[in-house]
Amino acid sequence: WLERLAMEEKLVKKRIVLVPVPAQGHVTPIMQLGNALHLKGFSITVVQTQNNRVSHSKDFSDFQFLTIPDSLTESDLKSLGPLMFMIKLNQICEASFKQCLGQLLKEQSNVDDIACVVYDEYMYFSEAAAKEFQLPSVVFSTTNATAFVCRSVIAKVNAEKFLIDMKDPEMQDQVFPGLDPLRYKDLPTSAFGPVESILKIYSETVNVRSASAVIINSASCLESSSLAWLQQELHVPVYPIGPLHIAASAPSSLLEEDRSCIEWLKKQKPSSVIYISLGSLALMETKDMLEMAQGLSNSNQPFLWVIRPGSIPASEWTESLPEEFDKLVSERGYIVKWAPQMEVLKHPAVGGFWSHCGWNSTLESLGEGVPMICRPFSGDQRVNARYLENVWRIGVQLEGKLEKGIVERAVKRLIVDEEGAEMRKRAIDLKEKLETSARSGGSSLEDFIDSLKMENSI
Ligand code: UDP
Repeated sequence: WLERLAMEEKLVKKRIVLVPVPAQGHVTPIMQLGNALHLKGFSITVVQTQNNRVSHSKDFSDFQFLTIPDSLTESDLKSLGPLMFMIKLNQICEASFKQCLGQLLKEQSNVDDIACVVYDEYMYFSEAAAKEFQLPSVVFSTTNATAFVCRSVIAKVNAEKFLIDMKDPEMQDQVFPGLDPLRYKDLPTSAFGPVESILKIYSETVNVRSASAVIINSASCLESSSLAWLQQELHVPVYPIGPLHIAASAPSSLLEEDRSCIEWLKKQKPSSVIYISLGSLALMETKDMLEMAQGLSNSNQPFLWVIRPGSIPASEWTESLPEEFDKLVSERGYIVKWAPQMEVLKHPAVGGFWSHCGWNSTLESLGEGVPMICRPFSGDQRVNARYLENVWRIGVQLEGKLEKGIVERAVKRLIVDEEGAEMRKRAIDLKEKLETSARSGGSSLEDFIDSLKMENSI
């Protein structure tokens, strides 16, 4: 008993340093993890880059926030694209992070030992500093395990042949060897930068270097074989600690949420509304938006649509869209700039989620038992969409050109038809499995936290 007490006292003094990628989809899960660790008695330091600050909301008033200079701007993000931006950020931040960590260690003067540095897999510069100060480090994958497997496989294949195959239209529908059911066109290689930079960042993010563990915001009931593959290949413990939004909810929105949509939802029939959100980065073409609006309107179902300012090229918000668009939307739709997504997905009026299939949105929808219309844009979103349609069978994927008839059909399949009801049943079944896995005392999040408590165990 005394030993346990001594350990708990020591634990209270343990600090975890978190290094998030400065983007909503990455900030959300790492801050959720921060909350879960804080609840268990750890002190939390968040190291953020200068150009894009992590939310300083009152939810995190007990956290320490430190900023490292990075000399990159919003316009660099636009001109370089996210992947090149991340490569540059990693080059720039390595030295400043070392300095920051060194300073933190000096200030701690052994009162508040640092238990470890947990860094987003895309902030791989963190590893060098952790190693220099002999601190344990943990890689945090905020995407899913299957995308990690894909990146590992792609990083090892013959790059020249791979690039030829990826450009060959005839290969697109073929299953990629070893990654069934993923086809060439589902691989997380698209967009966001030249292929060379994609391959570079893939080999960086799957190289776990001297890290002590890998944690993934996923669960065994979703991706058991991918997790087993990683466990075997990475030679360090792999903890599927998710879905974090169930175990540790934390509102960490970087944008202001428009809660008026909840009032609008209250006036709609149960399971009738299709909620549309394409996350924090995806951009939409005007012609696609018109096809969507027409299809949604023809489906006769109410819809709640998040249109992020800046997501339509050459437009601040929706002002560049023709009047026809406003008319179609006003018939049965409601538009906001940013929604309280988790609250929306929980609402009984929501019957389906049209999503770009970012991993957080996918997990949030799975966690609420809401079936999906999948329209991925890039990266791991294609993997998630394929899994939603083919593995978990709770999604309808829209491939190819977006046309109003296809949109109308997809909405009806999901909200009106028996097929949609079957998907909803499977989604609710999965929701229950996820809740059990996230809340049971023996979840991997608990195992991971236990490993942090044990001196020298990670
Ligand atoms: N989100 C939100 N309100 C919105 C749209 C999105 O709060 O109107 C949140 C959503 O709940 C999710 C995150 O933004 O946690 C988006 O992350 P995701 O991984 O789905 O996509 P990304 O933005 O990284 O492309």
